[in-house]
Amino acid sequence: MQNPSQSDVIKPEVRGLAAYTLKHFDADVKLDQNENPYELPADLKREVVERVLRRPWGRYPEFVPAAILRTLAKFTGWHEDGILVGNGSNELIQASLSVTLGPGRRLAVPQPTFTLYKLMARTLQAELSEVLLHSDHLTFDVDKLLEAARTADVVVVCTPNNPTGNLLEREALVALLKTAKGLVLVDEAYHEFSGQTAFPLLAEHRNLVVLRTFSKAMAMAGLRFGYMMAHPEIAREVYKSKLPYNVNIFTLTAAELVIERRAVLNQGIANLIRERDRVFAELEKRSAVRAFPSKANFILIKTEKPARQLFDALYAQGVLVRDVSSYPLLDRCLRISIGTPQENNRFLAALDRALENRQ
Ligand code: PMP
Repeated sequence: MQNPSQSDVIKPEVRGLAAYTLKHFDADVKLDQNENPYELPADLKREVVERVLRRPWGRYPEFVPAAILRTLAKFTGWHEDGILVGNGSNELIQASLSVTLGPGRRLAVPQPTFTLYKLMARTLQAELSEVLLHSDHLTFDVDKLLEAARTADVVVVCTPNNPTGNLLEREALVALLKTAKGLVLVDEAYHEFSGQTAFPLLAEHRNLVVLRTFSKAMAMAGLRFGYMMAHPEIAREVYKSKLPYNVNIFTLTAAELVIERRAVLNQGIANLIRERDRVFAELEKRSAVRAFPSKANFILIKTEKPARQLFDALYAQGVLVRDVSSYPLLDRCLRISIGTPQENNRFLAALDRALENRQ
């Protein structure tokens, strides 16, 4: 028998996909991944290390990480048996989609949005209903989303939406939960910057799944931690597709301590919200730029210049942003994460120079 060529053994749906990748660039001012620019305090980090030093590294973490589940239950007010933890929320997106999607099953998803949902759905050979945002203001097209939700096994909504920064209003979310045939996954990666959460709807709506991450407001992107809240019946099913021991003892320890001491994060989050609004107001003063209102820790902008040209001009001045111009509807758009006031000023100055071709 002939050996199949390497690509023949891969599902055609996967072969046709572009991987989720991010090219690495070094930069003085890093505003490309919506991270928290404020590091956790050194004494907190040291305490994590000391706690981890007291635990055996040669032993697996507990099969069910009881301590973090208890801590998260107290922190969120949700039932312990309705919470799952992940090595980043990405992993929980994958786990929840892998128990719901497959050939002949359908994902409804707004576009543009975080690219991972579609990538996972394609990998799972599922059908897709992509619902474009309104092309003028890039807000959710709620009517079309409701229509798509009637026949989809899963709907994913990222709110505030990455990369546009807009929210799905509560009323629309309630309508979606009532209309949807299947699960409604609400990705709240940026909720701390928005003052809005779907959490109060969890108790009433058994088809709601809320996903959260510690990579943004909680300043732990490097340690990889996320969690999911759902009705215990749903959590029990998603659990089956989650890998065992998925969160390591270092991350578990850090997540617990960060929740215990979360007050240390408040000032940074308040600064980021204030800075987001300041940067938005500054951008609005510039006629060559259109900025889209954001409830997250980033702002989407559109200019007359080709996005790549502006990206390069900013990068040449040490400012790294995200070129999102290949997303649907986002021609000539860049996404800028909010940094410290100094970083944001560096961005604004670099932008002015780039737009005037002075860089
Ligand atoms: N959801 C959204 C909307 C995101 O933007 C991101 C990070 N870019 C994630 C999930 C993934 O977060 P994590 O680091 O927890 O895997």
